[in-house]
Amino acid sequence: MSVKAYGAHAGDQPLEPIDITRRQPGAHDVQIDIAFCGVCHSDLHQVRGEWAGTRYPCVPGHEIVGRVSAVGAHVKNFQAGDLVGIGCIVDSCKECPDCGDGLENYCDNMIGTYNSPTPDAPGHTLGGYSEQIVVHERYVLRVRHPEEQLAAVAPLLCAGITTYSPLRHWNAGPGKKVGIVGIGGLGHMGIKLARAMGAHVVAFTTSENKRKDAEALGAHEVVVSKDADAMAAHAKSLDLIVNTVAAPHDLDALLQLLKRDGTMVLVGAPATPHPSPNVFNLIMKRREIAGSMIGGIPETQEMLDFCAEHGIVADIEMIRMEEINTAYERMLKGDVKYRFVIDSATLAA
Ligand code: NAP
Ligand code: ZN
Repeated sequence: MSVKAYGAHAGDQPLEPIDITRRQPGAHDVQIDIAFCGVCHSDLHQVRGEWAGTRYPCVPGHEIVGRVSAVGAHVKNFQAGDLVGIGCIVDSCKECPDCGDGLENYCDNMIGTYNSPTPDAPGHTLGGYSEQIVVHERYVLRVRHPEEQLAAVAPLLCAGITTYSPLRHWNAGPGKKVGIVGIGGLGHMGIKLARAMGAHVVAFTTSENKRKDAEALGAHEVVVSKDADAMAAHAKSLDLIVNTVAAPHDLDALLQLLKRDGTMVLVGAPATPHPSPNVFNLIMKRREIAGSMIGGIPETQEMLDFCAEHGIVADIEMIRMEEINTAYERMLKGDVKYRFVIDSATLAA
């Protein structure tokens, strides 16, 4: 079935309208009419070829929400009309220990929502900047928020789970002091989630003009990271830092803020490496640097349910599909509060 989409034919080309084909739903497939799709910085890294191995044409988008429009014969848990989400994963081997643990995100054969091999045309997956998507039922998430919040739920499917998973894994909660670095799409969700989990939240930003916003998002304290004195006031005090910054930067200034046995989790994925940290900043207090990638399907459902229960959604700015290239430029300048979401109905216009 031919559907309208937006994609790029090369890394130095803008995104433009393109017709793509979606498979007919198989026995275990769910077909979804996409209502909204969030715009992740990963979309930009991938489509512009900043990460190795982009396959073209590239149709990004992995923060997808919409309504089920058809299901395969064996699908029991979803039916036409259900509100659902699709995040960054549309398939995996389903047999390895990672899949067995519900950590499909770490399966060696995880199939991403875009840019992964697939038998479907054109041979790699195409994402949510499109009218419709067909996905195996295992990777479909149920949305329990009220329908009027649907657009603001979309960013939970990547920005939400990517911050929720490390906060849970490293036990953010009452009695813990948690730093969130970079107040963009991921960071603003990190603040909301860490606060809802009961942690003491310190937001770190390079942008003085985000101070008030960060407080409104739930940060107990806000530090402009260029201010050395403000940074020093938090030395050796944080249990956990979730670092979402999308560009290489000095990790030492942040490591020094961790207390003994504290961990800095890198989730930002810049195209070029960070400068190497000074090992003494790790040795001296047995500090750790870790990484974390999105989250598994069960944890993504847990995160969506946690957000529905706590009334958490993203702060969004809605855009029309044809505004995507301008939106990317604004995202690079940090000029988005705090996630662009595409109104997929504008694809048909
Ligand atoms: P975003 O909305 O652009 O936010 C990134 C934030 O980083 C900016 O708002 C800015 O916050 C801060 N920043 C500081 N210096 C920067 C610089 N020189 N260039 C860019 N940002 C700078 O991006 P996002 O969608 O949250 O994604 C953040 C990163 O996480 C990206 O690299 C993305 O690919 C990656 N990611 C990883 C995963 C994963 O599974 N690990 C999942 C999704 C995304 P301040 O103004 O507050 O300083
Ligand atoms: Zn993403």
